[in-house]
Amino acid sequence: MSITAKKIEIKGLVQGVGFRPFIYRLAVEHKLKGTVENNNRGVFIHVEGETEQLERFIISLPQRIPEAASITVFKEIPAQLEYYTDFSIKKSRSVSDEITEVSPDIGVCKACLEDMKTQPHRINYPFINCTNCGPRFTIIRDLPYDRHQTTMAVFEMCDTCRKEYTDILDRRFHAQPIACKHCGPWYTLHENSRTEEDLEKILTRTAQLLESGKILAIKGLGGYHLTCNPFDEKAVSDLRLHKNREGKPFALMVKDLETVKEYLHTNPEEEKLLTGWRKPIVLLKVKKPFAPSVSIGLDTVGVMLPYMPFHYLLFEKLKLPAIVLTSGNLSDEPIVINNETALDKLGDISEAVITYNRDIHNRTDDSVTFVATGKERVIRRSRSFAPSPVELTFEVEGIFAAGAELVNCFCIGKGKQAIMSQHIGDLKNMETLEFYKESIRRHERLFRFEPSLAAMDLHPDYLSTNYVRQLDIPATAIQHHHAHIASCMAENGLDTKVIGVSFDGTGYGTDGNIWGGEFMVCDFLDFDRKAHFEYIPQPGGDAVTKHPWRMMTAYLVHYFGENVVTEHPELFDGIDLKELEVVLFMIKNKINSPLTSSAGRLFDAVSSLLGICRNTTYHAEAPMRLEAAAPPGAEGSYSFEIKGDVISMKPVFEEMIEALNRGENPGTISAKFHRTISEVIVENISRISRETGIREIALSGGTFQNRIILEQAEQLLTRTGFNVYTHSHIPSNDGGIAP
Ligand code: ZN
Ligand code: ZN
Ligand code: FE
Repeated sequence: MSITAKKIEIKGLVQGVGFRPFIYRLAVEHKLKGTVENNNRGVFIHVEGETEQLERFIISLPQRIPEAASITVFKEIPAQLEYYTDFSIKKSRSVSDEITEVSPDIGVCKACLEDMKTQPHRINYPFINCTNCGPRFTIIRDLPYDRHQTTMAVFEMCDTCRKEYTDILDRRFHAQPIACKHCGPWYTLHENSRTEEDLEKILTRTAQLLESGKILAIKGLGGYHLTCNPFDEKAVSDLRLHKNREGKPFALMVKDLETVKEYLHTNPEEEKLLTGWRKPIVLLKVKKPFAPSVSIGLDTVGVMLPYMPFHYLLFEKLKLPAIVLTSGNLSDEPIVINNETALDKLGDISEAVITYNRDIHNRTDDSVTFVATGKERVIRRSRSFAPSPVELTFEVEGIFAAGAELVNCFCIGKGKQAIMSQHIGDLKNMETLEFYKESIRRHERLFRFEPSLAAMDLHPDYLSTNYVRQLDIPATAIQHHHAHIASCMAENGLDTKVIGVSFDGTGYGTDGNIWGGEFMVCDFLDFDRKAHFEYIPQPGGDAVTKHPWRMMTAYLVHYFGENVVTEHPELFDGIDLKELEVVLFMIKNKINSPLTSSAGRLFDAVSSLLGICRNTTYHAEAPMRLEAAAPPGAEGSYSFEIKGDVISMKPVFEEMIEALNRGENPGTISAKFHRTISEVIVENISRISRETGIREIALSGGTFQNRIILEQAEQLLTRTGFNVYTHSHIPSNDGGIAP
């Protein structure tokens, strides 16, 4: 019998996901000795024993890793025998190693779902979890990640749970939120003034209320949800009314993958996201319709699968194959996490409120994602992503990045890692601003972060910029679109000069104008603006985003003069004449009409011109509906003009108006418009590349959430021979600007 030793180094998502106990169990199973330890560079194993067993250990390791773990680097090198007498887990040695233990929340695992049907102390127990699954970030108060530092501290473990918790061979060894029906938290249903704590009765009643068209509030993992029957138009429109949310699409939770496939189109990549441990909302094309108010004017619906034991138990009772599951808040406020607030605020609009008595410490929304060119594209990065870090190639310790204002997310630098906060939201909302400040404090504490340098948006009036000014540390202002490109470079590990395409709704430019359709040559430190969309007045400033017809008017007047109103009255159909007069006056006299080169505003104008969306009720509605109107595979495009560094859309508008007058379908025109934008991207990049010799292209900004543009631009550019870099796990919108 020969005995050998090896050192194994593993990198990837291996911290805080039960990796060390897993290694321990695998080593013991193979009768091996040695140690496993964790630090912020990865997991390090020294293992020795019978050669054949050791080989088998190495083969099974990557095959049997916990669901939420993933390996990016796996190195094994022969080592000296150290004659260990057992296998052991070494304790974390430093704070920075403890930080790596703070993992995102993980959807309940298959093994736990089985245990929920077989373990006597956990039959149908809705807080079942193990080292491989369950709440993490949402319940942690402080380091080290240990039960007494979480919101589970108030629940004293029973003897059975303690035995599992302390038995290294058990799947619940050191599972901090471990619980069972004898010692753990429980649900309560509040209906009128009655309460019910029997889970069986809660589930039956919940199913009954949902089936009969009622609205309910249910506590989720990172916050409350509001729910109703997605096939019941009255229920869904009632929910819109009460929640004060006119048009923004609602997400659904669907029973299982089979049912998803029945109602929505999916590809293998989308199915992988749906069933993966993060259980995000995935945007999918509709096959079989839900009630019209679920997703007004769009061809997609955001769908997720169950991720809490309660969700699974509910679908066992429920006759419906899906439920609306939207964030439990009113309007733009942050989602409710507190039970009293839920009863108070959400209780008013729901028939019943279902609470449980484990506190949510860190609020997280459901994350939102979609697939383009076969790759995951995160739009809202929150539950099950936060607080996993983005690995960088350079040191960023002490840097605080305040983020933008509308879709805020901030970021802190620890070593060579950027830790992005969960999705915060629109800071103009007072409660959201409070949430922003509180989250910053919590991140400072949790990650032992002391800011020494702040990065803020160049925009002088952003509330995030204001926040930085109050800090007593040096700060640098970064141009918004440069930050978008830098974020894309960071995500892709690029540190060379790139040609960046930064298309979005708005961002403060160095010339004081509003930018948003930008081509720049840049690296992390500096940028050179190479081309942009022609400046157009934005009558009413930010207010135009609610009224795309104003932007349409600005474009038409800019290209065809004020007479366009009398020459082409058909284009202004349905627009209030008095309001139109006011807008014309503003444009003419340059009153509150800042200049913009924004791609988002261009999409607004076109969406209005085609009669698809003239007024909006939520952020980016006009471009989203414009995209939804375009049939797949449509051919053709319009011509555009490049004058120096300015891209003029005049020919595009001329041709679109002609097409409208010919009676061409707005959907077809929309498809051609999309194609035109992709061609604008390719042509400008080709020109800039000829001048500079740069072949590396980074695409960023909210416009690249448009699947058509992203896929077309990526394909055309790749075909032309460019190296194209896009976002995947960092949002391309303002939520991704901080890193
Ligand atoms: Zn589990
Ligand atoms: Zn117990
Ligand atoms: Fe932006």
